[in-house]
Amino acid sequence: MSTPIPIPDSMLGKPTPERRPGDSLQRVLALAASSKPGECSVVDFIRPNNSGYAYVTIDGRRVGAHRFVCAVAHGDPVAPRTDAAHSCRNRTCVNPHHLRWATRSENLSDRTADGTDHRGSRNPQAKLCNDEVRQLRRLRTSGVLLKDLAGQFGIAESTACRIAQGAFYSDVAS
Ligand SMILES: [Zn+2]
Repeated sequence: MSTPIPIPDSMLGKPTPERRPGDSLQRVLALAASSKPGECSVVDFIRPNNSGYAYVTIDGRRVGAHRFVCAVAHGDPVAPRTDAAHSCRNRTCVNPHHLRWATRSENLSDRTADGTDHRGSRNPQAKLCNDEVRQLRRLRTSGVLLKDLAGQFGIAESTACRIAQGAFYSDVAS
């Protein structure tokens, strides 16, 4: 996307209680707007929550950065309880090309179909794509706890540790 994404009025409201209102919102928008179709636009400046999603604050309410971008790029969801689904499975990605609205059951059946719901898998290796491996290592270097990385990527803490140290995915260069 080369042109800036306009922000729909429905996503804007009163000033947020953030110390620097709208700062991370603007960074998320700028990141989304500079997206290229084939590459994930990873929000690496907001610490992900336990589920692995980055959140921004709009009008005093916490909203997933991916949901925010999905609404900006594709309009508000047509139905309540609609997920902003990632085609790339990268929860901190805000590339509008990788986001679409999907019902909760569509989103969950997608995950099962392509094996990305990898919690509890016995084969933690070969579960992350190279971009995710690099992202995990970057986050680890910036101080994110192994247990949070494990939650974000749906892998065991010991696996996250080995990936961060380079014992797993040693072929993936940073
Ligand atoms: Zn992506």
